[in-house]
Amino acid sequence: MEQTKKLALVSGANRGIGLAIAGGLARRGVEVLLGCRDLGRGELASAPLRAAGGRVQPVQLDLTDEGSVDILAERIERDYGRLDILINNAGIVLDGNPELSVVERMRRTLAVNVLGTLRLTEAMIPLLLGSSCARIVNVSSELASFGLRSEPDWPYAGIDLPTYQASKAAVNSLTLSYAGQLQDRGIKVNAVCPGYTATEATHFEGPRTPSQAAGIAINFALLDADGPTGVFVNDEGELPW
Ligand code: NAP
Repeated sequence: MEQTKKLALVSGANRGIGLAIAGGLARRGVEVLLGCRDLGRGELASAPLRAAGGRVQPVQLDLTDEGSVDILAERIERDYGRLDILINNAGIVLDGNPELSVVERMRRTLAVNVLGTLRLTEAMIPLLLGSSCARIVNVSSELASFGLRSEPDWPYAGIDLPTYQASKAAVNSLTLSYAGQLQDRGIKVNAVCPGYTATEATHFEGPRTPSQAAGIAINFALLDADGPTGVFVNDEGELPW
């Protein structure tokens, strides 16, 4: 079957950076499945993108729910037979939550950021193998970079978000593992840092807007065949793992 339009799935896309990635991809002509835990919120988020001419459809997706992930994979298989772009964007940060023990913060954070990302990626790989230009983009954070954390002059040296940083370090490790495993199958897998961005996750602090933050993920979703795999990048270039 001829592939006329690329098809992307973005997790956690009903708000924040995920929504901006979905909108940016739609404006570039990509058909977007907008992953959302709550379909009503996904519908509200999708409506303006559709009104602007984008092909955007909300799809129910909770990374902690195996059934939700499996149903979505079956639906994409049935309706499209393939997936071209997977953006693992959904993520949480619970380090500032005083009501949870550190162990509980870690348990919940790993469940979404690491196990959830792994679950979704595993479910989508068979569909990505059906694409001639498959890309996986993991939305990570430079806060997880061991290389930068060891630099005393790094601007975020004072930031201490232990469970979040550990979770994104695990995402970075998975990025390298998948990049190696999938290199010969034509699937490029990279990690991107959107930068410090004003979203619900940061209590709307941070100098970047979601649409500025989305740019790097969009560029790596649309990488040419000669683009890299297994790298960690932000807008300024490559980051140390
Ligand atoms: P956000 O506004 O809090 O959005 C997070 C999204 O993830 C929401 O759509 C949320 O859905 C979804 N989500 C949460 N738990 C989920 C689950 N179990 N299953 C599926 N979706 C789930 O955060 P953001 O700032 O846009 O962050 C997006 C990504 O960028 C995250 O991976 C974050 O770590 C990363 N990042 C952000 C910054 C920053 O400064 N903002 C910097 C570096 C990296 P609900 O609306 O249903 O809760």
